[in-house]
Amino acid sequence: MKFSLYLGKYKGIKVFIHWTFSLLLLWIIIANTRSGVDIGDTGWSLLFILSIFFCVILHEFGHALTAQKYGIQTKDIILLPIGGLARLEKLPEDPKQELNVALAGPLVNIVLFLLLGFVVYISGFDVEAIEEPHLDGSTILLYLASANLFLALFNLLPAFPMDGGRVLRALLSIRMSRVEATQIAGGIGQVLAIGFVFLGLFYNPILVLIGIFVFLGAQAEVNHIRQSSFLKGYLVGDALMKKFPIVAFDAPLKKAVEKLLDSQATHFVVVKNDEPFGTLSRDEIIKGLGDGDDSIEIEKVFSPGPLKLDLHMPLEEAFKRMAAENRKVALVYEDNLFMGILDQENIAEFIMVKNALNK
Ligand SMILES: [Zn+2]
Repeated sequence: MKFSLYLGKYKGIKVFIHWTFSLLLLWIIIANTRSGVDIGDTGWSLLFILSIFFCVILHEFGHALTAQKYGIQTKDIILLPIGGLARLEKLPEDPKQELNVALAGPLVNIVLFLLLGFVVYISGFDVEAIEEPHLDGSTILLYLASANLFLALFNLLPAFPMDGGRVLRALLSIRMSRVEATQIAGGIGQVLAIGFVFLGLFYNPILVLIGIFVFLGAQAEVNHIRQSSFLKGYLVGDALMKKFPIVAFDAPLKKAVEKLLDSQATHFVVVKNDEPFGTLSRDEIIKGLGDGDDSIEIEKVFSPGPLKLDLHMPLEEAFKRMAAENRKVALVYEDNLFMGILDQENIAEFIMVKNALNK
């Protein structure tokens, strides 16, 4: 993960914190200083925020470890100022599994709320003795307990793709197709997202960011689900590209540039001893040229270790795998025999054609 600080890992799941998180801490320090809050109190605010985000990490582990139970791995967990994100390699398609994975996060916050509440209770702290809200050593656990309750309830709002929205989609999928369920949940999510932005403008800038994030997230997931539904029933072989440029791994980059300018192709197959060895994309060529030298060998700029797919694999599965691994192109084989390539643009064209024929 770029621009992120690695915090550690648990059960093979790495946790990162995004650099923009430092802006949140800085914002608290500046806001506190400007309103004349002393250093001690600012320290308590920072500790409070960091504790909340620790609870957010635990929430994300709730999702990630539940997914792991169903054999779904999590690439990483990343903390952003607007919350956490467990990047699952794929989403469970079984409604019951999706329901459990979605509920596990907020459930962690409810458990934390009960635990912290219990600690506050047995410590004999008198809630009614608080005259005005003040964050310090005596009240921090109480506020942290309340924050966890808030996190659980907020995440359970049916604002797809937030947890509550996923719960809604899972429940809808029992009765209707996954595409329809996603469209309905996504529509509700977008309406709520607009509400977040509107409320956030008056009360809290972070809510504006969450609203934008939810709106775009809902859009992206609805599109993705619709697209993959068009691929149902087809195999990789149906969208295979048999014509593509080939370059040798030890050829100078200018050979690839000539071919790039001479064709529509955006992906090349790099060969070594007549065997496909990797791929070279337009972006990699441009990046290589950025160093100002077109005589460097292709070997220095290409991507080794290409994704290999079977010719008879369902196209939908291939599409998902490419999206999950963030691959724009894959090499296609039939019984160890190289048959051609599959790239995302070609899949997009395939979808457009099927979509047009469906109308
Ligand atoms: Zn969650």
